[in-house]
Amino acid sequence: MPPVRRVLLKLSGEVLMGEKQFGIDPAFVAELAGEVKAAKESGLEICLVIGGGNIFRGMAGAAQGMERAQADYMGMLATVMNALAMQNALEQLGVETRVQSAVQMDQVCEPVIRRRAERHLAKGRVVIFAAGVGAPYFTTDSGAALRAAEMQCDALLKGTSVDGVYDADPKKDPAAKRFEAVTYDRVLGDNLKVMDASAVALCRDNRIPIVVFSIREKGNLARVLAGEGVQTIVQ
Ligand code: UDP
Repeated sequence: MPPVRRVLLKLSGEVLMGEKQFGIDPAFVAELAGEVKAAKESGLEICLVIGGGNIFRGMAGAAQGMERAQADYMGMLATVMNALAMQNALEQLGVETRVQSAVQMDQVCEPVIRRRAERHLAKGRVVIFAAGVGAPYFTTDSGAALRAAEMQCDALLKGTSVDGVYDADPKKDPAAKRFEAVTYDRVLGDNLKVMDASAVALCRDNRIPIVVFSIREKGNLARVLAGEGVQTIVQ
């Protein structure tokens, strides 16, 4: 892991479920917020992007006959709910936080304004970017890559429920091997399951390393930031 000053932490929506099958587990979100707080107190500037898969994914709606774009907007709204849950948890721990949504929602949060986000970070606030890129047919992985690029983050940390990138699906193939490091081109060429291709390409073109790790294990964010722990670096 290269030295980092500012990171973008992407959390899959499903990690907010904790042990539940759907939605948000406030106790687990509070635990996650504690890890984010510790990372911030270690001196890092933190941008957060949270997915929506614990509530709604556009593809799932489309698979049941919904119009894809309409379903994707529902997915984007789900990410705003998750962002508000995380903001609430962070602020209960005394961490000042602002949510900026790519779909404007004035009563609820700010719109995405890069210079304003810079100002928040300078004041020691965590900035949560919601609603991905604000357009259907994208995912929050692409949103994370985009915000990491425009906020000039030193790395994109992808906290998810698997502990890295494997050469095959570890849930289906017990012989699957985890990479310590892998190139963007291998990820794209072999279609390895990390993030969607547009997100990986955006990180490659802007030389943003992607660190994939399991956020489900307590203390893992701190370990990964210290260059320890199980992870895969895509660079
Ligand atoms: N979404 C979208 N555009 C974006 C970001 C998200 O349309 O820029 C929709 C899309 O339907 C997606 C859903 O929001 O399935 C939830 O996001 P995602 O699947 O990335 O969440 P995660 O898998 O990280 O929980």
